[in-house]
Amino acid sequence: MANIIDGKAFAAKIRSQVKEDADRLIEKSKVEPCLAVVLVGENPASKVYVGAKTKMAAECNIKTKDYKLNDSTDQETLLKLIKMLNEDPDTHGILVQLPLPKQIDERSVIDAIAVEKDVDGFHAINAGRLSIGGDMLNKAFIPCTPLGSLLLLKDNVDDLTGKNAVVVGRSNIVGKPMSQLLIEESCTVTVVHSKTKNVESICSQADVVVVAAGRPEMVNGDWLKEGAVVIDVGINRIPVTKEDGSEGSKIVGDVDFESASNKASKITPVPGGVGPMTIACLLRNTVTSAYRHAGLGDPRGTVDSESQDQYKEKYINH
Ligand code: NAD
Repeated sequence: MANIIDGKAFAAKIRSQVKEDADRLIEKSKVEPCLAVVLVGENPASKVYVGAKTKMAAECNIKTKDYKLNDSTDQETLLKLIKMLNEDPDTHGILVQLPLPKQIDERSVIDAIAVEKDVDGFHAINAGRLSIGGDMLNKAFIPCTPLGSLLLLKDNVDDLTGKNAVVVGRSNIVGKPMSQLLIEESCTVTVVHSKTKNVESICSQADVVVVAAGRPEMVNGDWLKEGAVVIDVGINRIPVTKEDGSEGSKIVGDVDFESASNKASKITPVPGGVGPMTIACLLRNTVTSAYRHAGLGDPRGTVDSESQDQYKEKYINH
């Protein structure tokens, strides 16, 4: 039976580091980290995400400014708001909750966000920096879900070097940046997607499998190599019939947890795996941005959680 990777506990640890970093910044330079959260429309899932982000930011001593715009907001109005936030010296991170209503072009909006405030890491320049890797990562913001997934992997695999990693999904938000992060860790990476032939046999050769396909419980134990480490990014709500016969729903991942647990050595649950890491990494990116705006080095390594001592050694003692 696989060990369960507890993303909820690890995310709590990251948030406590973020709070320490925020407190130190406030004390040292009087800069208060601040995240602007822009929500357009009434999408219920988006409202829940935005609420959770705002609450957890407050717990980490990160200020938030909420901008709620109605469903019929036009692109020009949204771009004006982003321009104002780009120019506001007290705002360090700008988050525009996706998806946006159909009259707005998402790419134009994302690329209008100042690169150095793009804490979601979706701007074309941040995507380019991640793709180049190396020192460029120190200037980039890395998308929160793949960053959270990588932090979980680094905490659970002694050395990723040379491991066969398969990423299921090639979206700009998860699959592609995940594959680039794993290349940076010297994994041998294969990306599979909806047009890939023999997805199962490719997965069965992987030491590490990261699944972001948006297909409920698609990857099962038969697809996995004995001892594989499995990161399930999927969040899907599926209908269930409750014990009393009434109709309800539950959240499942893209991996069939039960059968996969019999093959994997370690696996993330859904919920309680990658989900909490995404918000923790957003807050981490926001505090990093505030440090950069204050002219200080990053409080943590881009993809490592450095200790305070390592931090001092790197940025203060030298
Ligand atoms: P997406 O729909 O943009 O991309 C899905 C990808 O999966 C595509 O590249 C597609 O080619 C691939 N795919 C679809 N069917 C496949 C199949 N049968 N075999 C192989 N590949 C297949 O989705 P996304 O935004 O990348 O999200 C993926 C999943 O992750 C969703 O369940 C989403 O809800 C979840 N998600 C979770 C978080 C989090 O915080 N945990 C964040 C973002 C997304």
